[in-house]
Amino acid sequence: MQLTMLGVGSSAGTPVVGCLCDTCRSSDNRNHRTRCSSVIELDNGKTILIDTGPDLRQQALREGLSQVDAVLYTHTHADHIHGIDDLRAFCQIQRTQIPLYGSPEAMMHIADKFGYTLREVGNFWDLPILKTNPVKATFYLFDQLITPIPVKHGNSDIYGYRIGNIAYITDVSMIPETSFDLLKGVDILLLDCLRYTAHYSHINLEQSLAYAGQIGAKSTYLIHMTHDMEYSTLSSQLPDNVFVGYDGLRLQLPM
Ligand SMILES: [Zn+2]
Ligand SMILES: [Zn+2]
Ligand SMILES: [Zn+2]
Repeated sequence: MQLTMLGVGSSAGTPVVGCLCDTCRSSDNRNHRTRCSSVIELDNGKTILIDTGPDLRQQALREGLSQVDAVLYTHTHADHIHGIDDLRAFCQIQRTQIPLYGSPEAMMHIADKFGYTLREVGNFWDLPILKTNPVKATFYLFDQLITPIPVKHGNSDIYGYRIGNIAYITDVSMIPETSFDLLKGVDILLLDCLRYTAHYSHINLEQSLAYAGQIGAKSTYLIHMTHDMEYSTLSSQLPDNVFVGYDGLRLQLPM
């Protein structure tokens, strides 16, 4: 199994439009962050995308991504969903409908705001051809066990996901006690780490490191960062098994 970080930026991305701070002007590509998304390639060749942010097209071009067999949605904020129309490129290549998975609320939101994408395969390929699948518990996708991890994102109840021994938890302010059971024994954790200071709907660095310690993955990668987080500075402040994610980072994973 291979995971590629398509984007590890917060909703504004880095550089932030109009900002002249050191991170935004940095020549280190690891400080250039598109909106948050990752893609997982299973050993059987199937490709599972997590969220469809507004940078999906650029991310796909950058990483040579030409196949998406399913999408897992964490939640429906604009920075995680507004690239949904770009899924049509994959429908056109594959000549298939792409299944979407997420909470019943997330699936209803997609039907409400992007209803034109929910279509059956026909002769017209200029629109996405998608299908919503509400999930509330562990399910199999392409023979891979996938577990939604309920977490709090401010006042919203959203999902992280466990895919085999990887967990992906973006946009979180609180992980409920019951969700820790679902995270036991993960090897790799991707975890929200918005900034240094507190935020009502995201964990900050201190909270992120505390959760990373509590979950106890072999390696934790920080994602969904604002321009407050400069790659080298932040890297020097982390324990040995915690790393700063960056766009394009690839991880090989044991099944
Ligand atoms: Zn977000
Ligand atoms: Zn900046
Ligand atoms: Zn969000």
